[in-house]
Amino acid sequence: MSDNAKTIVLEDMQCIYTPDAGTYGEDIKVFCGVCGRETTVERDLDGPRSFAGAMKLAATGIRSTVLHDLYCCPDREEDWHKQVVLLRQEMDKTPSKKMEYILQAEVKDVLEYRAATKEV
Ligand SMILES: [Zn+2]
Repeated sequence: MSDNAKTIVLEDMQCIYTPDAGTYGEDIKVFCGVCGRETTVERDLDGPRSFAGAMKLAATGIRSTVLHDLYCCPDREEDWHKQVVLLRQEMDKTPSKKMEYILQAEVKDVLEYRAATKEV
């Protein structure tokens, strides 16, 4: 790794498809927007990049010929990771500032201990 490696943090996301293969160079590190861990990457994929792309493939059999890369958090299937996503969704939904504060405190705990505080 070079000293001038660039980093990208996915805002509130745990996975991202790139528009094309190699959009982010080998020296770019991509970090999960949920927990901050560095993502893993699968390069040169040729499947659909979105729900719409999957529907088009299913309906027409036409597959995009543009290769892309997929960056995903290795912890995205962990219970604590799923709980953080759900807690943040609750934070966005609640009209209460106090509830938002309480939820944020729980997010902080879950991220600190990498352990879910409730089965989700
Ligand atoms: Zn993560």
